[in-house]
Amino acid sequence: MAPPIEAGTPTPRVAIIGSGYGGIAMGCRLRQAGIETFTIHEKGEGIGGTWRDNTYPGAACDVPSALYSLSFAPKPDWSRTFPAQPEILGYLEGVVDEFGLRPHLRLRSELTDAEWDDAESCWHLGFADGRREDAEVLVAATGQLYRPHIPAIAGLETFGGPMFHSARWDHDHDPTGERVGVIGIGASAIQFVPPVAQRAYRTTLFQRTTNYVAPKRDPERSDAAKVAFALLPELQRLYRWSIWLRFEARWVVFRQGSRLGRLLQRAFQREIAKLASDDLPLEALVPDHPLGCRRILISSDWYPTLARPDVEVVTAAIDHVEPGAVVTVDGRRHPLDALVFGTGFESTGFLAPIRIVGRDGADLHERWADGAEAHLGIAVAGFPNLFVLYGPNTNLGHNSIVFMLERQVAYSLTLIRRLVERGEASVEVRPDAQARSNRRIQAALAGSVWAEGCRSWYKTASGKITNNWPGPTVQYWWRTLVPRASDLRVRPVVHSGAERPPG
Ligand code: NAP
Repeated sequence: MAPPIEAGTPTPRVAIIGSGYGGIAMGCRLRQAGIETFTIHEKGEGIGGTWRDNTYPGAACDVPSALYSLSFAPKPDWSRTFPAQPEILGYLEGVVDEFGLRPHLRLRSELTDAEWDDAESCWHLGFADGRREDAEVLVAATGQLYRPHIPAIAGLETFGGPMFHSARWDHDHDPTGERVGVIGIGASAIQFVPPVAQRAYRTTLFQRTTNYVAPKRDPERSDAAKVAFALLPELQRLYRWSIWLRFEARWVVFRQGSRLGRLLQRAFQREIAKLASDDLPLEALVPDHPLGCRRILISSDWYPTLARPDVEVVTAAIDHVEPGAVVTVDGRRHPLDALVFGTGFESTGFLAPIRIVGRDGADLHERWADGAEAHLGIAVAGFPNLFVLYGPNTNLGHNSIVFMLERQVAYSLTLIRRLVERGEASVEVRPDAQARSNRRIQAALAGSVWAEGCRSWYKTASGKITNNWPGPTVQYWWRTLVPRASDLRVRPVVHSGAERPPG
């Protein structure tokens, strides 16, 4: 890391939106760079983003904790390989304290609109409570999975019983002895269904598409390992990178025509097929899409849960909901006391519903009407001094998002520091650079397994893959290592209307 900016140097006001992994990482790095003029705006009551929102039973990470932590804030005493949500949230709270971010935090501060002022070279920000503030730099750290998706099913409002989404779990509701219906069986559902099924009288799973679920090997971290990692930080770093490397090798599986992918897929299908029974026919169990086209899930209690006599998998599509029941297109009425949505998120609506207006009145959401795109997922042409974290095309199927977030933070920070050190008022990506990098991304995605005709949250309704990065993460690391001057357009502090050649 570059040395901190000299104390007393004027620095831009930075407004960070969101206090999940991305917003927190940005805050830590800004402080380390000697920039104190930042505020983290969080619409919720507490920090943590998705790890604050997703409190459903069984919520845990499916990336090993050693890699699912910030490289500069290691935690030697993670309790296990895949820790549960409270431990991850506790980790983030600890990072906020350790890096002194509390004074920078504004809770219940929901950004509703941001408008770029070219003359002043700043963003005018509007908040839900009517407050208005200005900031030279806007960092959008709202993530990809923050707005729950509830499908528009006819008659839903007539159901009458408890009904909630996995990311808005109703902890006052006790499923003990109830008939519980679950719509959707993605990464969230495979975690909350097993504990719910243990308590419910009967659990009915409305499954539209089945998934590949691999066993979850989740050992506890031994006391000896905790001590060793605490005493030898280098050992912990080595361990972290060994996981990253192992995961990085899995990238090949996500290319179309991968022989390894085909082998693994057949092995998976063979194993899953062994579980078929009269109640659980092959079609309900064995995915017919290529391995990796949708997220590969991990759980060791998913298939045993499906085999329970009090769990039913319904594959007929839902026709409508009526009081106390879901009715499927085959005419069957499924009586239920409670209905839980494991139906995922509005994943392609990046930054919605915040209204973001860039130079010359350009509306970000109109610009993204055919699918969001940004340069390296971070910068958007026409939107100066806007940096997006976990933006378009930066999600992964094979490795940790925390790695990607740290790259985005580093790239953004380099440019923010330049504003200070070179006396620049604004920096933005050139439209041609953004178009070029996105052509490359889309061309690479066309050869990825995600393009192979399955439905997933990685795509818009029209089929454009807006969420995933097509390459290995090392490629992303390389591309974000040094912002290329020729990709950027900068303006000096004294706004003359003229552009300064990039340097
Ligand atoms: P998801 O993977 O998008 O799954 C949504 C489920 O809802 C799918 O089964 C989908 O069916 C179903 N669905 C959606 N609309 C439906 C409709 N109209 N009728 C019937 N079914 C419908 O969502 P998620 O499980 O919340 O997971 C989203 C992502 O969050 C994951 O992929 C992962 O990246 C992240 N996550 C991570 C962890 C972790 O361990 N770190 C845990 C949970 C979530 P179709 O598949 O047929 O569309």
